[in-house]
Amino acid sequence: MFKTDVLIVGAGPAGSVTARYAASKGVTVTVIDRKHELGAPVRCGEFMPSDEEIKGMFPNAADIGGLFDIPGRLRLRETDAIRLTDPKMRSSDIPFAGYTTDRAEFDRHLASLAEDEGAEIIRGCAFHRIEDGIARTSAGDIQYKVIVGADGPGSRVSRSLGLPRPREPYPAVTAQARGDFDPVVVMFFGGIAPGAYSWIIPKKGQANVGVGFSPKFASGTLGEFFDKFVNKHNFDIISRTEGKYVPSKGPVAKTYTDTGMTVGDAAGHVISVNGGGIPLAMIAGRICGDVAADNVLEGRKLIEYQTEWSRVMLKPLKIAARGKALADLFAFGSDRRTGICMKLLGKRRMAKLIRCKRIFP
Ligand SMILES: Cc1cc2nc3c(=O)[nH]c(=O)nc-3n(C[C@H](O)[C@H](O)[C@H](O)COP(=O)(O)OP(=O)(O)OC[C@H]3O[C@@H](n4cnc5c(N)ncnc54)[C@H](O)[C@@H]3O)c2cc1C
Repeated sequence: MFKTDVLIVGAGPAGSVTARYAASKGVTVTVIDRKHELGAPVRCGEFMPSDEEIKGMFPNAADIGGLFDIPGRLRLRETDAIRLTDPKMRSSDIPFAGYTTDRAEFDRHLASLAEDEGAEIIRGCAFHRIEDGIARTSAGDIQYKVIVGADGPGSRVSRSLGLPRPREPYPAVTAQARGDFDPVVVMFFGGIAPGAYSWIIPKKGQANVGVGFSPKFASGTLGEFFDKFVNKHNFDIISRTEGKYVPSKGPVAKTYTDTGMTVGDAAGHVISVNGGGIPLAMIAGRICGDVAADNVLEGRKLIEYQTEWSRVMLKPLKIAARGKALADLFAFGSDRRTGICMKLLGKRRMAKLIRCKRIFP
């Protein structure tokens, strides 16, 4: 039987960063992903906040510069603002630095950093379940000391470990549109994307465009909303439309057992108000990798993973989850309400909301 110290399921940002930091401590690390080609297809807006913005949101996170040292070739377009657009197409720009990446290459880059540290990545291998402490996979059984579920919001590892999974994830779709776009991230609120938002995220000579919505506020399918958005803006779509679910209720209550942990989307590590999850997957992944290796080497308890990621991320994530819950209650449901709420909040409070800061004292 194949044996490894740390088995990680999923080679997205959470899994690859976990693998990198665990392997750097000298334990054997194996990552499995059901995809044959990591990173593809892209189901993401591909937006990354600048290091400064990440530091501002998560001031307790260590060494942001080292973790987010992303090569220039993966910074396709710098953006300097987020443009919030209400249902009447009135917009206001919030200064916010970031960049658009090529998500497929981004994921492959993080995977290569893990491999450089000695982690083995097995592609085209699906995790099925845990039986008697053994992982059953499409490539055979794997014996592990610690297992990490970095397998997204529908995490099978969470289910096998008896851990909670993100509640009410909402669906979102994305595609590439050809053209020249302003260097700002544009978010459209209202009936164009009930319960969430639609977006234009500029790249070089094209943009990532997409729609997220909450089925409880929408009549119609996500595909219909996406088509409406495309027609309204006359986008020249040059790729397939790809979709996935986004956790929207904040982190799950428990992310560890005696022998396993969940991280990234599998743990609900997503900013509820905007669906951003890559930076959080990476911040939590580093903590997860450290604790997994220490557990193997010196018996460090896995509860310390939850304690540490909570210290770094729980407060901002709870604020964002509360903000999204308030929006569900008061802002979504009609264009009129959405417009009034955006006006009442104003630019300053909307800026705070986006940065996971309290909007009311
Ligand atoms: C449409 C859309 C747009 C988004 N835009 C942004 C954005 O612009 N910026 C941002 O920061 N975030 C964005 N997000 C969120 C972001 O994509 C996620 O938060 C991020 O990918 C989480 O990383 P992860 O490693 O936890 O999970 P994932 O990236 O989903 O990786 C999970 C991996 O696990 C593998 N896997 C799943 N099940 C199994 C199994 N049973 N066996 C083996 N492998 C398995 C999958 O193949 C996958 O490779 C967006 C999400 C969506 C859906």
